[in-house]
Amino acid sequence: MRQIIAGNWKMYGQLAGIAAYAEAIRNAPDHVDMLICPPFTLLDRFAAALKGSPVALGAQNCHAIPQGAHTGDISAPMLAETGATYVILGHSERRADHGETNADVRAKAEAVLAAGLTAIICVGETEAQRDAGEAEHVVRTQITHSLPENFAGVVAYEPVWAIGTGRTPTEADVTAMHAAIRAALVAQLGTNGSTINILYGGSVKPGNAASLLALPEVGGALVGGASLNPADLLAIAAAAPRG
Ligand code: PEP
Repeated sequence: MRQIIAGNWKMYGQLAGIAAYAEAIRNAPDHVDMLICPPFTLLDRFAAALKGSPVALGAQNCHAIPQGAHTGDISAPMLAETGATYVILGHSERRADHGETNADVRAKAEAVLAAGLTAIICVGETEAQRDAGEAEHVVRTQITHSLPENFAGVVAYEPVWAIGTGRTPTEADVTAMHAAIRAALVAQLGTNGSTINILYGGSVKPGNAASLLALPEVGGALVGGASLNPADLLAIAAAAPRG
């Protein structure tokens, strides 16, 4: 399976710097699928700057319906027009900041699929849930309720306590969780569940990428902070094993 290396810029980035960033990453290593998910405002410019490059574009959220009276929202068909082909959904920052539920994520994922885009659905436990021994149960529940029937796309396991903190789970914990996610996907989606890339996200850096990406059932990385530096994102991509 080819690994996917996705950069999540969160609410960072302005027009100045896009051209240089795109130039730096346009020749990403060809053994991975790489994508950048900048804020909505930069998608158009990024699409132009990356024209002819294999690096894809993604958004960080969308609305669940194609159009309507929803001030400030952006729909999946609107994203498709910008050249984006992926949409991150259910990131823990959106679940926490905007109260997004599993049902919301599922509705958005249906919209993304209907628009012909690929959803990256994020799941992950809080530190309190891990400490209480509930991590696998929480993540399995998120999978069951956030993924539409017949889902085809990407899942990202992002322990909430590892995002932006510099902390990562042990290799044994990542291995156990990715195995549990794979089992949940196969139980829910049948054989299609065995082909879904399961990304790891949470403080992935050039220094820890090789060991994290080599773990069983890790199908790539969702990279936040480190993706703002093109050299770091390229180093992470270069560390991915060949599928
Ligand atoms: C993220 O934003 O999805 C993320 C994993 O952030 P970071 O790499 O900064 O922990």
